[in-house]
Amino acid sequence: MRIFAASLATETNTFSPIPTSRRSFENSFYAPAGQHPDEPRLCTAPLYVARRRAQAQGFTLIEGSCFFAQPSGTVMRKDYESMRDEILEQLNSAMPVDAVLMGLHGAFVAHGYDDAEGDLLERIRMIVGDTCVIGCEYDPHCHMTVRRVRLATVSTVFKEYPHVDFLERGEELIELVLQTLRGKIKPVPSLYDPRMWDFFPTTTEPMRSFVDKIKSLEGKDGVLHVSIAHGFLHGDVADMGTRVLVYTDDRKTEGDRLAEQLGAELFANRGKWCPPTLDMQAGLAEALAHNGRLAIIAEPSDNAGAGAASDCTATIHELIRRKVDKAAVAAIWDPMAVEFCMMAGAGSKMPLRFGGKAAIESGPPVDAEVEILATKRDGWQLFGTAKVPVGDTVALRIGGVDVILISRRTQAFGIELFTQLGLQLEDYRVLVLKSAQHFAGAYGPHASLIVSVDTGGCCPQDIRKHTYRKLSRPFWPLDETVKGRLLV
Ligand SMILES: [Zn+2]
Repeated sequence: MRIFAASLATETNTFSPIPTSRRSFENSFYAPAGQHPDEPRLCTAPLYVARRRAQAQGFTLIEGSCFFAQPSGTVMRKDYESMRDEILEQLNSAMPVDAVLMGLHGAFVAHGYDDAEGDLLERIRMIVGDTCVIGCEYDPHCHMTVRRVRLATVSTVFKEYPHVDFLERGEELIELVLQTLRGKIKPVPSLYDPRMWDFFPTTTEPMRSFVDKIKSLEGKDGVLHVSIAHGFLHGDVADMGTRVLVYTDDRKTEGDRLAEQLGAELFANRGKWCPPTLDMQAGLAEALAHNGRLAIIAEPSDNAGAGAASDCTATIHELIRRKVDKAAVAAIWDPMAVEFCMMAGAGSKMPLRFGGKAAIESGPPVDAEVEILATKRDGWQLFGTAKVPVGDTVALRIGGVDVILISRRTQAFGIELFTQLGLQLEDYRVLVLKSAQHFAGAYGPHASLIVSVDTGGCCPQDIRKHTYRKLSRPFWPLDETVKGRLLV
């Protein structure tokens, strides 16, 4: 048995000011064929898991290239085509294969390709033929199009947000693919579209219980797998939105009914899946009035993990203006300011301009007399078990406000952003984190209050702040009256 695996993944924010090229992928994560490191990455779990299971399960794995780029704007057409064609050429050389495993994100948009994954899968299907098993793993912030569901044999989607389960869903994908190859199951998809988008953190109710429920449905009554594609609101494509994907073991009618039921439940609770995002003043006021351990102000509107620059200065200006003590902001992306601080070194005091660079929403830069608390070459942070590089990094102090600067753009995942610079979370009462939800795994246990604020920028949590041109309508919450439908 011969199985080919590869990965092509990014989450395209079509509203982002940052262009995306092949170089963006090579700077984030690129493993040429056979050179994937021996540690898991978010979107390469199918290849990583298959590599570990090949010998015991009696198949030969042919490894193709793996690409991932930090979320940013629409990908340059020729760059998408060059990465796609690299994988397709490897697949061509690997033929004949019994199965193809693809690690995708699912919100990849290139100029000329609103559904890049659909295009890639179509070309893969043309090479491998109709009977080959194609298995895909997606991030829930994907656009789950009909085309993809029809082209793949079976797909899994991370169930957790934060995405701590990417390996588990990779294991399940390979299990489903192997069972299909051995003729033990026949996965049949049902895809339901409730015509909505919402934000679905799984660390809080009601989504926690909803995810536990869909997990409990699997493996019974012919239900093979149940996924909720949350959708990615910062991608202006026709298919943006929440979708329910159910695979049954050749029980289409029951699968359709279940997908529709779950979709109806998502819609019935629309607007209740997460607390509302506050404006900055209201969020700051709530955090500063808090008397518990640590108050965290999440700033999803400037989340690098969704395509923002992460150099918006609004909260820093406000914390300084209010003379707040024991506050910190992490992390501002500003490679030039980091370089200045590295040259000056820890312990220096100097005037510095930082932040407020990438777009008008980044706001005016901060000009201040700063104390450089610490510097570190080649810093990193943990996201679950994965090590995420942040590049050279420094900690600054301006009065009572500490700021972490990084030179590789990424959202706040791990507390190492602070600890690697000798700073401890216990010394703060308010933290501003540039992230929407992924910070919750590592920072959540330290906090007794978490609020989300909107400071402008290309990642608003309120969908009504985006002007969509391509999204198909009617669509909740842009339109009040919508009608859900079974797509597959
Ligand atoms: Zn995601």
